[in-house]
Amino acid sequence: MTHKLEPLPYAYDALEPYIDEATMRIHHDKHHQAYVDKLNAAVHGTELENKNAEELLIDLNAIPEKIRTAVRNHGGGTVNHNFFWHVMKKDVPLRGEIAKAIEKTFDNTDKFKEQFSAAATNHFGSGWAWLVLNNDVLEIVTTSNQDSPLSIGKTPLLTIDVWEHSYYLKYQNKRADYVQAFWNVIDWYKVNDNFLKAKK
Ligand code: MN
Repeated sequence: MTHKLEPLPYAYDALEPYIDEATMRIHHDKHHQAYVDKLNAAVHGTELENKNAEELLIDLNAIPEKIRTAVRNHGGGTVNHNFFWHVMKKDVPLRGEIAKAIEKTFDNTDKFKEQFSAAATNHFGSGWAWLVLNNDVLEIVTTSNQDSPLSIGKTPLLTIDVWEHSYYLKYQNKRADYVQAFWNVIDWYKVNDNFLKAKK
């Protein structure tokens, strides 16, 4: 077993009432676990068995064709969820270098929030909305399914999972309400840290 599901870095109810405990339990223990298990099954017995999941995603063309789709989907599911859990925490104000960079790139924080929310809400089907660093430039992008920005050379700083499994129990069809609630659980300290590391 190369890849392991790490425990959440906080209690299942830590993001209440914005993201509910039942959703976090199923999302982490069942959905995330399934991606990890299927990634392990895909790389088992291959020369990729001991590579970390991020490395696999950065160069998908280097993955044997037979397991490429499985690595893309389940490696992406493994890495994206790990990343997602770690950019959430309640009541962390937006400040630091990332706050300055957001204001510079998007004019002001409200415009950034509008654009990010629109990207997350309007993304068709399952996927993720991201704030990434691309050649030292901040960008908002979305990816479908479990695709990772790492596979297109962009460094994730912040993300929201917009698969229905991430909000349906509490918000049903109202993805926009879930996206709105998400602004209360962003760990801006961590996002700032991601930004400083990506910038070099
Ligand atoms: Mn998910």
